[in-house]
Amino acid sequence: MAKNETHDVLIVGGGPAGASCAYWLAKAGWDVLLADKATFPREKTCGDGLTPRAVRQLCDMGLEHELEKYHPIKGLKAWGYGRCLELNWPEHPLFPNYGYVMARKDLDLMVANNAVKQGAQFKQATQALQVLTNKQSGMGGIEVNGVLFKDKNTDTTQEIRARYVVIAQGANSNLARELGCTRDRSSPMGMALRGYFLPDNDQYRSNDNGQYDWIESHLDIQDGGGKAIPGYGWIFPMDDGRLNVGVGLLTVSKRYKGFNTTKLMESFLPSVPPYWGVSKNSACDAPMGGRLQMGLSITPRVGVSHLLIGDSVGAINPFNGEGISYAFETGRMAAEVLNEALSSKSSSPFILHEYEQNLINAYEAYYKIGKAFVNLISRPEIMRVLVANGMHSNKIMEEVLTVMANLLDPIKTGPAEFIYKLLSSATNLIGTPAH
Ligand SMILES: Cc1cc2nc3c(=O)[nH]c(=O)nc-3n(C[C@H](O)[C@H](O)[C@H](O)COP(=O)(O)OP(=O)(O)OC[C@H]3O[C@@H](n4cnc5c(N)ncnc54)[C@H](O)[C@@H]3O)c2cc1C
Repeated sequence: MAKNETHDVLIVGGGPAGASCAYWLAKAGWDVLLADKATFPREKTCGDGLTPRAVRQLCDMGLEHELEKYHPIKGLKAWGYGRCLELNWPEHPLFPNYGYVMARKDLDLMVANNAVKQGAQFKQATQALQVLTNKQSGMGGIEVNGVLFKDKNTDTTQEIRARYVVIAQGANSNLARELGCTRDRSSPMGMALRGYFLPDNDQYRSNDNGQYDWIESHLDIQDGGGKAIPGYGWIFPMDDGRLNVGVGLLTVSKRYKGFNTTKLMESFLPSVPPYWGVSKNSACDAPMGGRLQMGLSITPRVGVSHLLIGDSVGAINPFNGEGISYAFETGRMAAEVLNEALSSKSSSPFILHEYEQNLINAYEAYYKIGKAFVNLISRPEIMRVLVANGMHSNKIMEEVLTVMANLLDPIKTGPAEFIYKLLSSATNLIGTPAH
């Protein structure tokens, strides 16, 4: 076993959540160790779409100039029932009106390197095996004070200790499971699959329709038998000439348990508009899939000396399956509370509980409505009526996009805020139906 080391904060997982937490803590002057089982750059199965919410966090971390090298995306092109609408990202006092598509291999390396530049240490090929706890603490709960790791290069183990431990391992956290965290099964769980395609020509980049300026979403996807599915298909154009093409299923219904997203992808591909040049021949690799834990569905979120962020706490937005921005945001929120805890002389076992309260204040009301929305669209007939009617109005769908991407204006009371209030009243009236 290698020599032990001790830090102020140990963060397990160097994705967007962990790297953002490391950046903000290092900026505040703390000794932070970020550990990841992978060696970066590494692939991460994702749609690679960055919304204005994610761009805002990247800019706050000083990465604006890095982003300027990429082609900005001005909104979402939505297809449904033979109609196509171009929905601009809204003007907003806090968020920019553009997004990007950036391979996670590059994005995650950029954000982790940025944390290192700020002073965080980054240990790679370092796999967390189990938590280390202080059984003598008498602090009214398990006090996590480190993690046992395996160095994947040397196959040796090492104990790394810290005053606080942050779990940022993504959707499948062995440490969270070990600490008794479970998923609320009434919360929606998404499934998504993405593949990279390299079309023969990049006609879509140069043509007058400006396909390259939009991420594209198909809201009327069907399974092989022609049945409407509560989800969407996407085509996101990347700077390197590849297209990220995928399908996502957003549902709570048990009816979709074991649903085959590979088959859904197979039935989606022939319906992709020909201007993209997507075909089986232009596929770069076999599609990869993953789970989307949504609506803050993992609890407990905080312990005496540890907390969960990003996908590990189920932070994905149930309305649209977006998780990168919420990983950045929850990482930052955790860093703020840890900064206070590290600066404080208090030894209260509840010192990190403010983080949980901050999560609730930031997301709970909105996610409650998101969950009700997913419940609603889990019934294909309702999904069909909503999309088929919505697709008649660019204006309405632009407002719906604002709600679904959580880009509501905190001060203004425009149509999007009105739609949100309506959904909120309906949710309170109906409650979250059983499924
Ligand atoms: C198919 C698909 C498409 C998606 N598309 C989008 C999209 O377009 N836009 C969007 O915003 N969101 C999208 N998401 C969601 C998004 O990918 C996640 O919400 C986001 O990656 C969460 O970041 P994270 O840092 O919490 O976790 P992750 O990005 O999963 O990072 C976790 C890190 O922890 C490391 N780790 C895991 N276990 C260990 C261990 N034992 N020891 C050490 N390290 C460990 C991993 O190597 C990884 O680097 C998509 C998800 C899927 C599955």
